[in-house]
Amino acid sequence: MTDVRVRFPPSPTGDLHVGNVRSALFNWAFARHHGGAFVLRIEDTDAARSTEASYRGVLDQLRWLGLDWDEGPEVGGPHGSYLQSERLDVYAEVTAKLVEGGHAYPSYSTDEESRARRAERGDKTQGYDNFDRELTAAQLSAYRAEGRTPVLRFRMPDEPVVFQDLVRGEMRFDPEHVPDFVLSRADGSPLYPLTNPVDDALMGITHVLRGDDLLPSTARQLPLHAALRSLGLATGPLPHFAHLPMVLGEGKQRLSKRKTPEASLARVRADGYLPEGILNYLALLGWSLGGDRELFTVSEMVAAFSVEKISRNPARFDVKKLAAINGIKLRELEPGDFVRRLLPFLVRAGLLTSPVSDEQLDLVAAAAPLVQERAATLVEAAGLLGFLLVVEHHFEIDPAAAAKVLTPAAAPVLDAAVAALEPLASWTTAEIQTALEGALVETLGLKPRLAYGPVRVAATGSQVSPPLFESLELLGRDRTLARLRAARTGLGPQDGMG
Ligand code: GLU
Repeated sequence: MTDVRVRFPPSPTGDLHVGNVRSALFNWAFARHHGGAFVLRIEDTDAARSTEASYRGVLDQLRWLGLDWDEGPEVGGPHGSYLQSERLDVYAEVTAKLVEGGHAYPSYSTDEESRARRAERGDKTQGYDNFDRELTAAQLSAYRAEGRTPVLRFRMPDEPVVFQDLVRGEMRFDPEHVPDFVLSRADGSPLYPLTNPVDDALMGITHVLRGDDLLPSTARQLPLHAALRSLGLATGPLPHFAHLPMVLGEGKQRLSKRKTPEASLARVRADGYLPEGILNYLALLGWSLGGDRELFTVSEMVAAFSVEKISRNPARFDVKKLAAINGIKLRELEPGDFVRRLLPFLVRAGLLTSPVSDEQLDLVAAAAPLVQERAATLVEAAGLLGFLLVVEHHFEIDPAAAAKVLTPAAAPVLDAAVAALEPLASWTTAEIQTALEGALVETLGLKPRLAYGPVRVAATGSQVSPPLFESLELLGRDRTLARLRAARTGLGPQDGMG
């Protein structure tokens, strides 16, 4: 396949939904696989809902994910502008030609009038009834006399719209279910049903991969594509369509950001998910590399991508699985890369101050491998390092962990730990381990969980921490002993009855 041209046309009305990101990914992978072009177009004609912040966010998020575009905002290209708000003259010109060619007409009917006319005929179908296609001079002047201003409607063909969807096979829409639709409002402002296919046509888009919620739009857009070609406004064959299966959230509902916050890309990014993890996971929502292989890199996806492997079945968005895959991707990072990505999260958590000093950086670099093994996200990794990086007077013990582990029975354990650690000649993981094992497991005869639990909670503030002996080494002798003593003091004096 040569000269593949695909597009991603987000509306900048909020932050990206992961379902849209999946569409972007599939189009991008398709373009990269075929050596084609990936076009980014901003559908911002709805001035009331579009925002500059959302537009900036879309560009930033796509760049962060590594979904680079060949044509579009900030990159340019032969079909600009790639912002629909800057193409209003194009739409005006196209609508004038559509009217001239008999493909569009002014329409005055209100919804109520369509409904009333249908009711009179005993017709139960919903929507506009194509009444204004042929208005008599008298009807026209009556409408005008009332001061009505018309919308512009596209004249749909009288035959069914039939097309081969690349995922779903033959699709057929009968004319009674697809009435003539509105291209632009009475004030002339163009609407999505006009701008989206017009731009696809003018920008030479060859394949449209998008969510199957847009199937009914395709039934309207194909005849418009044909009209544009018959008028000579566009050249080349009609685009191919591939409708991607629905992404489900809770229950059988379409995934929503309201019910599932992780459906927002901005949210998962802030939660410390990696582009690698997000893209791998989103690829699984309706596509497979082959067999039951679930882990792959973006380049492996590009190399293997084909529309034939897109499924028709709805896919469920599973945050746990996203986290599991992200954890694997996190562990695959080079240690230095992991640290580089972790630093902003440590700063955001208030554990480091920017600019990060060399001393802090060394400490993070030494501790990072301990958490890289254990965390699913960068936020989780940052949290696991809190005990080490926190300003000492802000160190706190998780009250739930304290209630569970720092019971009176912990007093002798902490006493023995302090006594064993205090005299250590060198403060290394091995020495710490030998000292604590000797004092707690051998001498006190405690099971490891009971021996180390109080030490862990006292020194790290939590029952969940990186490996204990390594953690204590990094924490240093003074801070370790001070925390163990403080926790011990909190338990009160031992009265000899315990
Ligand atoms: N602007 C539309 C949206 O974000 C584009 C849909 C399409 O891919 O045609 O839903």
